[in-house]
Amino acid sequence: MLRAKHRSIVRLWVACWLLFAPAVPAEENRCVLVLYSNNRLLPANIEFETGLRETLDNSTELNAEFLDYPRFEGESYLRALTTFLHEKYALRPPAVLIAGGKGALDFVLRHRAELFPGVPVIHAAVSRSFLRSRPPLPADVVGVPIEFDFPGTIELALRLHPRARRLVLVTGASKQDRAWEAELRGDVAQFQDRVTTEFLAGLPTDTLLQRLSGLDGDTLVVTPGYFEDGVGHLFSPREAAGLIAAAAAAPVYGPFDTFIGIGIVGGSMPNFAAMGQQAGRLVKDRLAGGAPAAPRLPEMMPKAVNLDWRQIRRWDIDPSAIPDGAIVRFKPPTLLEQHATATVFATVVFLLQAGLIARLLFESRRRRRMELAIQQQRFELAHASRLAVAGELTGAIAHEINQPLGAILSNADAADLLLASDEDRRDELRAIMADIRRDNMRASEVIRRLRALLAKQPADWHTFALNDAVRELEPVLRAEARRRGVALDLRLAATATTLLGDRVQIQQVLINLALNAMDAANGLPEARRAVALSVERDADRLTLVVRDRGQGIAPEHLPRLFDSFFSTKPRGMGLGLSITRTLVEAHGGRVWAESDPGAGAVFRVEWPAVDDAGTAEPA
Ligand code: ADP
Repeated sequence: MLRAKHRSIVRLWVACWLLFAPAVPAEENRCVLVLYSNNRLLPANIEFETGLRETLDNSTELNAEFLDYPRFEGESYLRALTTFLHEKYALRPPAVLIAGGKGALDFVLRHRAELFPGVPVIHAAVSRSFLRSRPPLPADVVGVPIEFDFPGTIELALRLHPRARRLVLVTGASKQDRAWEAELRGDVAQFQDRVTTEFLAGLPTDTLLQRLSGLDGDTLVVTPGYFEDGVGHLFSPREAAGLIAAAAAAPVYGPFDTFIGIGIVGGSMPNFAAMGQQAGRLVKDRLAGGAPAAPRLPEMMPKAVNLDWRQIRRWDIDPSAIPDGAIVRFKPPTLLEQHATATVFATVVFLLQAGLIARLLFESRRRRRMELAIQQQRFELAHASRLAVAGELTGAIAHEINQPLGAILSNADAADLLLASDEDRRDELRAIMADIRRDNMRASEVIRRLRALLAKQPADWHTFALNDAVRELEPVLRAEARRRGVALDLRLAATATTLLGDRVQIQQVLINLALNAMDAANGLPEARRAVALSVERDADRLTLVVRDRGQGIAPEHLPRLFDSFFSTKPRGMGLGLSITRTLVEAHGGRVWAESDPGAGAVFRVEWPAVDDAGTAEPA
């Protein structure tokens, strides 16, 4: 009874344990075996494995075996290999098997039952033509077929070399090489109306390279490389293609992306790393318990045009002929690609600077235009002011002309009297005629100077003596001073007074200052009605001084004296001094006033001295 009770408790305990104890999973097999058709060092295999490892995580154990075709072949080799693999993987069977290449797939399909029964198989890098040539694959053998694109590669070569007339196809002597040769012979048929074709198949490498070095410029070479040459020397296709590209005097194209970088121009190629990634995705799917039946897979691995930029340059290929979407390798990055931020920044700074410079240029042109306009206005104003001054000087001018005219008249009367006498007085008559001529010239000289002063002529710069310019005005100024009852004292410099500029404008300066000085003397006792003009020259300066003994200038007026429209005179315009300053400064000089209020004013105009050639004299 007790024993039965004990048994039921044990049963209950076992039942509870079964129900609630955590489930312990059988150890998960994450071993993957990749069986490659060829040699371990074949570049395509290395690329493939890189893509595969990128896709699988670290928890997957990846083992690799190499059938080493075509170097090792034959029944006994395969028998030994099968035994080896059987023994090696008996205790560590793979959960998934990858067959890389058609040789490996063929081997797996034949020996699978004895080696890896029930293990799902993924094939990679197996050509579609091979798959089509054999019975359909079992449901648990899946993969994405590839196609080595010989026609696409030839088409590309002809596109990049439109003048090519001859196609040389290079293949080797191994079984695989012969298979490629056969495939190529089928493919070139479609190009025969565009180029002549020639096969260099299974030659000794030395002979082949010699033939290739003698090719002419109209020829293109297309090759899948080879495993074995005509005298049994073994290569990887990549090694063979490298030798071919180095020797050939014509551009070389090939269908494998592992050839890029060894001297070929390019080709239309499936990508071995992408094949590894695709196989990796299928492995993950299997390890995660995906159905063994073929999933929805792409019909074929995509191909892409791959090109080597250095070869494009070497063979002078027109870059515009490169098809869209082509992968161009070894192209030096542009400045923008290399230093994107810095380049964008520099471009922005450059554009801003260019904008700033353009703006400054525009402003400077505008300023120059405005300066020219102002200069023109000043010129007009100076001329208007000269006309106004001439109005003021009418009395003096009339006197200057009337005097010789009056003298001419008196001389003419005297001549009449002499002619009426009976005596021969021809000598006296000759003297009278000379006087008349002199007076006439004096009058016409006054008119000539007046015309020069009043004519509207553009500035005419040349060197002249300031003494002469003052002396020319002396008669008119004296006449005016006499008319106003002012004593005029004129002193010229004893040494050279060369000045570079417009003589009429400098004379205008003198007239303005002299008339102001005479104005200042107006209404004063005779003793103070005196104006002194002098031209002075020292080592580095030429000075014109106009001094009067009038009321002087009130200190508060001094700062505004040269402003336009500043005048203290009842009918003054206030333009004389402002025009004077403009003209003086245009000649590189300066003008200023000094005043002793109640006792007179002095106006000084100063220019740097120049020598007779018009250059500034050293100080
Ligand atoms: P305006 O003679 O038409 O007044 P200016 O520009 O020639 O115009 O002279 C401006 C002002 O400067 C005069 O109104 C006067 O007040 C003062 N000024 C000029 N020259 C003298 C001078 N020699 N003595 C005193 N004041 C003078």
